[in-house]
Amino acid sequence: MNQLLQTPIEFLKGVGPQRAELLQKEIGIFTFKDLLEYYPFRYLDRSSYHRISDLPYVDTSVQLRGVLKEVKESGVGRFKKLTARFEDASGTIDLVWFQGFQWIKPNLKLNVEYQVFGKAKLYSSTWNIPHPELTLFSELTIRTGLQAVYSSTEKLSARNLHSKGIEKLVHALIPQIYGFIPEILPEWICTQHNLISREKALLGIHIPKNEQEFQQARLRLKFEELFFLQLEMLLRKEVSAKKLNGFVFKELGEPFNTFYSQHMPFELTNAQKKVIKEIRKDFLSAKHMNRLLQGDVGSGKTLVALLTMLIGIGSGFQSALMAPTEILAAQHFESIQQLLTPLNLKVALLTGSVKKGARKVIHEGLLDGSIQLLIGTHALLEDTVQFQNLGLVVIDEQHRFGVAQRAKMWRKNTVPPHVLIMTATPIPRTLAMTFYGDLEVSVIDELPPGRKPISTIHRFESHRMRLFGFMKEQITLGRQIYVVYPLIKESETLDFHNLMDGFEAVSQSFPMPEYQVSIVHGKMRPEDKEFEMQRFVKGETQIMVATTVIEVGVNVPNASVMVIESAERFGLSQLHQLRGRVGRGAEKSYCILMTGEKLSKEGLKRMETMVQTNDGFIISEVDLQLRGPGDLMGTQQSGVLDLKIADLARDGQIVTIARDAARNLIQEDADFSMPKHQKLKESVQEILRKKPNWGRIA
Ligand code: ADP
Ligand code: MG
Repeated sequence: MNQLLQTPIEFLKGVGPQRAELLQKEIGIFTFKDLLEYYPFRYLDRSSYHRISDLPYVDTSVQLRGVLKEVKESGVGRFKKLTARFEDASGTIDLVWFQGFQWIKPNLKLNVEYQVFGKAKLYSSTWNIPHPELTLFSELTIRTGLQAVYSSTEKLSARNLHSKGIEKLVHALIPQIYGFIPEILPEWICTQHNLISREKALLGIHIPKNEQEFQQARLRLKFEELFFLQLEMLLRKEVSAKKLNGFVFKELGEPFNTFYSQHMPFELTNAQKKVIKEIRKDFLSAKHMNRLLQGDVGSGKTLVALLTMLIGIGSGFQSALMAPTEILAAQHFESIQQLLTPLNLKVALLTGSVKKGARKVIHEGLLDGSIQLLIGTHALLEDTVQFQNLGLVVIDEQHRFGVAQRAKMWRKNTVPPHVLIMTATPIPRTLAMTFYGDLEVSVIDELPPGRKPISTIHRFESHRMRLFGFMKEQITLGRQIYVVYPLIKESETLDFHNLMDGFEAVSQSFPMPEYQVSIVHGKMRPEDKEFEMQRFVKGETQIMVATTVIEVGVNVPNASVMVIESAERFGLSQLHQLRGRVGRGAEKSYCILMTGEKLSKEGLKRMETMVQTNDGFIISEVDLQLRGPGDLMGTQQSGVLDLKIADLARDGQIVTIARDAARNLIQEDADFSMPKHQKLKESVQEILRKKPNWGRIA
């Protein structure tokens, strides 16, 4: 049965070798099955008819039923056209053609009923339907329900494989294979969740008779897709929990105890304590830890990471902390080194810009075990970086490392080191379940005490003078201020000019010697950057004008105002990150979002969201709705995003149900040995075969 579905597409009637090659190259269709799973991306409603008198005169497709009354040609040369007056019980509209009349005209029959389908357009101030699809009513076949629209490409269209052409292929395929499409979900799951069969669903997604059939088909296919994804994630998790041994960190250890009792900069929050307990349980279990630490900006993830790493070091292992950017890595290095000074531990920083000689020294120190804690960027992943005895890896990520990269760190020791992944900003629940579904999750759901909520205000450019007035008031109160400009790669030069203009404007309104203004941007030499940063950190300057270099890292508790220029150009999570730079001291803090007067609907929504809430978890949900999972998670994660029909932004509920179903199934029959799970077992094995990463982990 499966053989039939694996038939090369070339052998489908109407395809042949040349079109087959195009289908493969352009849209990845190699087999019957691929075509069957090439779902329409939208549908035209062909089930009902519009009345001419109440046509929606916009660019939507309309369907009419009526008769042709009069056909005439007019114009000359390029302006020649053919017009047919079309009439139903409610009124008339013109159908027009600008070319090909020699074939069309002789076929038009007056006073016979037609179905007309097309888009109403405004043409020299009257509405008409150019180049409509005309079908004699008596010859109508299946064109009654929703008509599938397939995405195509220019090259495919050139070979008549536009949407209609693909539709034709699908219509040729389905009768050939109908009756041979196997069910892959266990029957009990279909029954429990009221799902139609796979075969029915595939028919219903391509050729739905009506809305209801389409809805059922779509639900079934979305569920199936998400179910297998969740099953895979849970299996990974299961496998690593069951089969993978991990190092035991038995004691909290000397470094931890000393640090905790004598050098803690502040008392841990309850949430931080809870998370450390969860991690500690993993360390004692002799199982490999694979844990995600979620927490809002400023919730104190770094300190948790540090304490965790100290436990590893106390048990005689090396620990590593990996960050997504050099700036962030350097920042971690500095603050951690400072905190650990009294402990006499060796900490090293490894990034892409470490010179060869220094790098060699680090490599050696890692191999002979003299370096106990390594901090760095993805330079850590390189094969040349080898440890004497790596026990724990903490990944401080901005959703930037994929599953494959994580797995790479596992190989840095004979027994895989424990892994703790920290997110920079919270991730929506459905995405966390999907992208990190193979991990255990800990959440820091509490901010350190004494943080005053930040007031966020959205202001238009026209309020700039008032903004400067407000900044002056704040400076008089002794506060410091960030003014941040976007610097987006694509428009770097322009952005740079904006930054410089902005700096000039600020310098003019805040003249020396009364005011001191710092500037920091990516084009400065590192020493100059550092110098300016330090002036601000020490409180010698009151205003820091910068690009997003300060997005991550910088910690200046006295800074209580964050002005974000051209805020509409920043994404929500970036805005939230930037806002997180203030509100760290005891003073009331402000975030001011400056935008142009004209905002897109989405831009406005982003500003409103920022003004309404400080809660990163809520912001991440809105972000998902606005941007979709692809933009949110970054391309590294694309493997998980190859979803054919489900939509992680919209189908949160189905994700949850699918995950529960997958979990129940694994609990009942973890190795799919029950006869009722035979089919499922085959499908799972196929998935595993296709994902090489799996083989290693299992
Ligand atoms: P994030 O979770 O965004 O990485 P950080 O770890 O950078 O947050 O912590 C943000 C700030 O909060 C830092 O200045 C840190 O020193 C401080 N901090 C962390 N934990 C506590 C705590 N328990 N009490 C007070 N301040 C804390
Ligand atoms: Mg952090």
